[in-house]
Amino acid sequence: MTTSASVPTGSESAMMAGDTVTHRLVAANARYAEAFTDPGMDARPVLHVAVVACMDARLDLHAALGLELGDCHTIRNAGGVVTDDVIRSLTISQRKLGTRSVVLIHHTGCGLESLTEDFRNELEAEVGQRPAWAVESFRDVDQDVRQSMQRVRTSPFVPHTDDVRGFVFDVQTGLLREVDPAS
Ligand SMILES: [Zn+2]
Repeated sequence: MTTSASVPTGSESAMMAGDTVTHRLVAANARYAEAFTDPGMDARPVLHVAVVACMDARLDLHAALGLELGDCHTIRNAGGVVTDDVIRSLTISQRKLGTRSVVLIHHTGCGLESLTEDFRNELEAEVGQRPAWAVESFRDVDQDVRQSMQRVRTSPFVPHTDDVRGFVFDVQTGLLREVDPAS
């Protein structure tokens, strides 16, 4: 990124000229660190669980799932899609850091529902290079959760697949709905 968005006027830290959202985050961190005490944890998640979720800003995973600092690994990307890189993280999570359960969370109103794989063509037309990655767009969120569960369960690298469950988070009610892997 070569540019950064301005903080909306009226916010506390937007008083300084040339302020950016990153300035605001760094200022918030200084306040956080003042109250922070070393919890003395190691890197192994207390609840032995990895949560794979969409990056959507309306999904506050810790609040929505009652999670505390140190409880879980959170792996997020556009769509909460199980890509090769998510498998990489899950493999390290299970084999090196002791997690045993996987929770997959997609959500209502996901931006990926309005995209198609044609997005790659648009990018190629604009920048002259076709991305190596798939867009992973979808139309049926339940089916996409099932596909994600299947990708975890069939990965040769992920050893613990007995407890892999998938959900759709409703951004309007805050409720999770479980997706039946067999439907
Ligand atoms: Zn999303």
